[in-house]
Amino acid sequence: LPIVALVGRPNVGKSTLFNRLLRKARAITHDLPGVTRDRIYGECRMGDVRFDLVDTGGMVLESEATPELSKDFEDEIFEQAQEAIEEANAIIFVVDGKEGLTPLDQQAAEYVRRSGKPVFMLVNKVDGSEFAPQMTGEFHELGIEFMPVSAAHGYNLHEVRHRVKQFVIDLNIPEDEDDGIEKGLRLTMLGRPNAGKSSIINAVIGKDRLIVSDVAGTTRDSIDVTFEKRDKRYTFVDTAGVRRRANIQDHLEKISVIRALKNSRRSDVTILTIDITLGVGRQDKRLIEFLAKEKTPFIVVVNKADLVPRNETNRALEAFRNELRIIPHVPIVMTSAQKGVGIGKLLPIAEAMRKECQIRIGTGILNRSLQAVLERQQPPVVKRRRPKFFYVTQADEEIPTFVFFCNDHAIVKTSYVRYLENQFRKMLGIKTAPVNIVFRSSH
Ligand code: GDP
Repeated sequence: LPIVALVGRPNVGKSTLFNRLLRKARAITHDLPGVTRDRIYGECRMGDVRFDLVDTGGMVLESEATPELSKDFEDEIFEQAQEAIEEANAIIFVVDGKEGLTPLDQQAAEYVRRSGKPVFMLVNKVDGSEFAPQMTGEFHELGIEFMPVSAAHGYNLHEVRHRVKQFVIDLNIPEDEDDGIEKGLRLTMLGRPNAGKSSIINAVIGKDRLIVSDVAGTTRDSIDVTFEKRDKRYTFVDTAGVRRRANIQDHLEKISVIRALKNSRRSDVTILTIDITLGVGRQDKRLIEFLAKEKTPFIVVVNKADLVPRNETNRALEAFRNELRIIPHVPIVMTSAQKGVGIGKLLPIAEAMRKECQIRIGTGILNRSLQAVLERQQPPVVKRRRPKFFYVTQADEEIPTFVFFCNDHAIVKTSYVRYLENQFRKMLGIKTAPVNIVFRSSH
């Protein structure tokens, strides 16, 4: 899909615009505790036009905005914007009509221009047509086509959506074409530099036949590595990114979240590699939260197991399990890429996970399961009302998604959602894949 980046200095309203453009149906999904709510990456559908929208501002950690870090903070936002610009096919540049044109806007606009990518500008926080001429006048000087909008109040939003749709159509980017060739299982590697991602890839491929290193034409440094093992085809997606990032500083690594998520979505299973001697770092946590929130099928690999004494590996594994308890279904595999330990488990686990993602369950079985689950434990009364479940179906999605029709989803407790998920997992045999529980109210 085409990628469109929302770029602009902080607080111009990018996140609000992002949500407005995405217009996600407010289905109640399983909100895991501790999972960040900010989406930074979303698929936009406007009629038959689809594209990926990236919100660059949403990626900055609140905790980093401390006064002593403010310079770094600014630099980082800028770096993120640069990276987003580099990866995007087009840019929506956002400015703040209330604040007017600032030097940072000018600087950012300069970067955007230099990228040579198609750009469209939105002057946000214009709360009505009567304010538009006066609030947008000075932005003409940037020489970028723009429209006024109020993300918060909805002014001009309909027209903006229409214009953005046309903007994307004009990019003329074909959707991911399916060339009919069996692509096999696709894997994305994530993790901090030096966690051992490249070593794991090498260990997995081993002496098996490397089929092709395919340098994609559009992104100059994205390389997919395809190989065959036991007559099956596998591809590591964007291994160039893995190598490249191994050589850059840690703080730059944050930026790769955009790319990481993009790759995760291009693949079937994501492997997050963590160095056993370093433990789950802040960036790892963040990635895990995103992967969980995005319902990405993934495996956590705890690598360099050879660096801890044998009698301590179990305790280390327990510590990781505890750390990752919000995602109890995610497999944790201990490996040593160097000694070749645990490596053989990775592909079979990934295969099984993909199979679970492809599971399709008939309405009859689902509804019998629902009855059994309800009989075992009724949903608790909330506000003197007891949720009533009418029936459940599986939606046609890439991961198992079960839609429960009930009288009022607002009175279903989170703990009961978790119970439903766990019971359905058990009954349907979904052990490692993500599961999406969705409610629809119908009276
Ligand atoms: P990447 O940046 O995540 O791709 O990490 P690399 O694969 O380049 O590995 C970084 C460093 O860790 C290299 O020096 C590897 O030799 C080393 N390394 C990778 N896996 C292991 C392992 O299982 N055990 C040990 N002791 N070292 C490892």
